[in-house]
Amino acid sequence: MHEKIREYIYNNKERMLSMICDLVSVHSVKGEPAEGAPFGVGPRAALDKMIGICRDEGFDTRLCYDVVGTADLMPRYNKDMPALGILCHLDVVPAEGQEGWNTDPFKMTEKDGTICGRGVIDDKGPVCAAFMAMKCIKDLGIPLKKGVRLIFGTDEENGSEDLDIYLANEKLPENVFTPDAAFPIINIEKGMMRSNFSGSYRGGNIVCFHGGNIPNAVPDSSYCIISGIDTDEVRKAIELYSGCKADFFITEADGKIRIDCKGRSAHASTPETGINAVTALIALLCRLPLEGGKQKEILRGLNDAFPYGETDGFDAGLRRSDERSGALTLVFSIFHMENGKCSGTIDVRFPACMTLAEVEAAENAALKKAGCKLDGYMGDEAHITDENSEFVQKLMSVYERCEGEKGKCIAIGGGTYVHNVPGGVAFGVERGNTDYKMHGANEWISVDELLRDAVIFTEAIIEICG
Ligand SMILES: [Zn+2]
Repeated sequence: MHEKIREYIYNNKERMLSMICDLVSVHSVKGEPAEGAPFGVGPRAALDKMIGICRDEGFDTRLCYDVVGTADLMPRYNKDMPALGILCHLDVVPAEGQEGWNTDPFKMTEKDGTICGRGVIDDKGPVCAAFMAMKCIKDLGIPLKKGVRLIFGTDEENGSEDLDIYLANEKLPENVFTPDAAFPIINIEKGMMRSNFSGSYRGGNIVCFHGGNIPNAVPDSSYCIISGIDTDEVRKAIELYSGCKADFFITEADGKIRIDCKGRSAHASTPETGINAVTALIALLCRLPLEGGKQKEILRGLNDAFPYGETDGFDAGLRRSDERSGALTLVFSIFHMENGKCSGTIDVRFPACMTLAEVEAAENAALKKAGCKLDGYMGDEAHITDENSEFVQKLMSVYERCEGEKGKCIAIGGGTYVHNVPGGVAFGVERGNTDYKMHGANEWISVDELLRDAVIFTEAIIEICG
């Protein structure tokens, strides 16, 4: 049967590619809400297009609350809830103004066995691979005992409000995987807490400080303007601060000194690969002869709690790790200080042994010590699906059989589409350390990989629903 499936999928390569091409041409970037299109007309157009394709194929389709579409392949005599849900999304991140594209991001191009275009790997290509898997089973007449449901949302890239709406009204199948991350299987996703804090002061040498603008990334630049300190003192402090990998640049204007700091960005789930320009500049300022007062206290307090070079939350009382999910990571990602007020953002990814409440308590205490206060946060508890569950074991055996290599479960610091789906896992489609330029310019994937994905998904459906 494996050979027959493979043959069918590879023979239908053009069908899959033309479908991806159709979907890529829909500009499904989040936009202004419109009638029947809460996330904008683009995502809605992609939803209608996908439902049309699935309906034409003879699948049972449904448009749910204008935000999610479903397509079912059911056994002839069993109309129960499908046993498997494959959760994908049709919305994409913007490409406008993104430098480096060699082709029109919304026109799929094929070259040397690869396809390029916005969404080819995230997540329009995988949607089509899953569709081809269902079509393969239908066309080859492979009998299923239970049904399978393809579920395609339209707001994954902006907080998954589509799923919130869908889940408020609908149940998911008992087994759900999303082909919107990586192989082999992601069964643990750390918890996440993104918090804002603020403080106030009077006076001080720092006229202003601005650093970072993305809450979930290591900030790669910052600057401050200071007064009342000699330029030579600043130069000396920079020279002595040889342990810092960030670069500092000084300019003088109107009797004040501007210090620019350049670091290196990294995703908040892997902060150890970045160089934090906010904590580096705060550390430098703490090495200067600042005048006493609340401003200095705040800087010193923040420097004590979130020191440059530390990414495990140790000094904020947050260092924790467990075997399953790894170590906690912390990024001080945004900081502003001006006109007697300061504010900042901290992104924490915590292991499954911790709860949001514990992270909040520790952060609260650390910020209080620094003379600031936690204003609020958004967050999610960790997501864990038992790697010994029948579902995960079945997916693993399919992966190993199809790819001919040992599979394993992995834990990540980021969140996938199934973060709030109990028992769900991410299954595909990135492989190894390949850089597919996801969310970047020239997003690509090889055609062969997508065909292999379709084979894997076909086998997974048979394993779970057959
Ligand atoms: Zn995605």
